[in-house]
Amino acid sequence: MDSCACCVMDAMDSMILIDSHVTQLVDVLKTKVSEFKYNQWLKPARFIIENDTLRIEVPNKFIRDWISENYLQLIKYEMYRLSAQEFTIEIVVSESLNTVDLLSGDLSLSIHKTMEGLDKTTAETPAQDAERPAFQPSTSAPATPSAYPVRVHHFNPKYSFGTFVVGNANQFCHAAASAVASNPGQTYNPLFIYGGVGLGKTHLLNAIALKALGDVPSRRIISITGEQFTNEMVNAIRYETTYEFRKKYRETCDILLIDDIQFIAGKERTQEEFFHTFNTLYESRKQIVLTSDRSPKDIQHLEERLRSRFNWGLIADIQVPDTETRVAILRKRAETANILLTDDVAYLIADKVRSNVRDLEGAFNRLSAFAVLSKSEITFDLAQRLLQDVMSSARAAVSFESIQRMVADHYHINVDDLKSARRFKTIAEPRQIAMYLCKKLLNASFPEIGQRFGGKDHSTVIHAVRKIAKEIETNIEIQSSLVAIEKTLTV
Ligand code: ADP
Ligand code: MG
Repeated sequence: MDSCACCVMDAMDSMILIDSHVTQLVDVLKTKVSEFKYNQWLKPARFIIENDTLRIEVPNKFIRDWISENYLQLIKYEMYRLSAQEFTIEIVVSESLNTVDLLSGDLSLSIHKTMEGLDKTTAETPAQDAERPAFQPSTSAPATPSAYPVRVHHFNPKYSFGTFVVGNANQFCHAAASAVASNPGQTYNPLFIYGGVGLGKTHLLNAIALKALGDVPSRRIISITGEQFTNEMVNAIRYETTYEFRKKYRETCDILLIDDIQFIAGKERTQEEFFHTFNTLYESRKQIVLTSDRSPKDIQHLEERLRSRFNWGLIADIQVPDTETRVAILRKRAETANILLTDDVAYLIADKVRSNVRDLEGAFNRLSAFAVLSKSEITFDLAQRLLQDVMSSARAAVSFESIQRMVADHYHINVDDLKSARRFKTIAEPRQIAMYLCKKLLNASFPEIGQRFGGKDHSTVIHAVRKIAKEIETNIEIQSSLVAIEKTLTV
């Protein structure tokens, strides 16, 4: 670098400035994105400022697409806020970010700056740039075209029609899903699947996507949950990107799959947006498949015009599989896992775990983990011992009262607090945990649980159960609390 001393000083000042912008950006992102998502999507990225471009290097296409679809506007907005400079954002896959980078500590920051670029940046410090107009997110794709992704589908091959066991309780749903997957937009539109938790709704949705893509790989499929749709809508309003949002759902989608659509009930703007999306897709004969934990008529606070549209196609309910189907599901699991499962053990599990397929799998996984780790066979006696806590006899002692008492004890609060309307986290969280346990251990209905917690609305209970079910995946504190409480309940 052949430059004079003052240029070098200038260059260093700018580098510090830019370095601090990137550092600040990272700090802001950490506060705006949940820790789990941050670690998953943003941590593996490297942020590099070159002139007026923020280049985000990521290890693979998947992360590139995710950041592009979910965080681009946020990053752009925050960069402008921090620097008063509008950056062009590029997201590129970099070979150099291999798995070692992925596993390394914090987000890698690096500054690459040419001397030529430095002069320009020095001239564009926020102080000298006070008259720049307020940030206006562009109404077209904001990143450079080369950096803008093609949609990459990521459906789980495990949840296909091939792995779905058909029995009386789900035959109708399975047939409808399969017809829709083979001829999207031609048979039942929308297809509305509803039923309790753990009965295979998400599995079927994924299977539809796999089949439809297997037949025609160029199909553009959007698969999201009602909650994600709502969040995207909220972000679109917040970052003024409703144009992109609409375009995505109405113009670049051949098949729209929304899991747990009941989540949008009561959310006005989201329902409004979904209503128009629905109409556009329906009119252009694009397939829509929705799942819900209840039938349209039972979804409270759902707009009438949506309720009536959900009835336009086919409504199919999925129920708890009968014993034979439960045994067939267990056999299939054992076959896939290459584990010997005798008939008496299969019937024992199927007999004891009747609530839903997810619990059935949980019981099977527990047995198979034991068999693999101890390199022993699963005998009837062993199965009986290992399944103690899911056996109904052991459960007889578990009640609303015992759950509330144990949870209150664990968190050093009163049972009355659990039933109160107080919203402090120290009370609200134990209350949600107690509700979750009532669902899990007693398989009580949402309204009944609401009733037992001081007359709460069933939607509050649904929210609580979902929230805790989600938290368990990442929150170690909740995980260990649950293990401890369940243990005290089942001894
Ligand atoms: P839901 O979305 O209705 O809550 P999921 O689709 O997540 O339920 O299913 C829970 C688990 O049970 C998944 O692992 C799924 O693969 C499995 N499952 C549900 N029904 C079946 C079935 N009929 N055959 C095989 N596996 C099933
Ligand atoms: Mg589901």
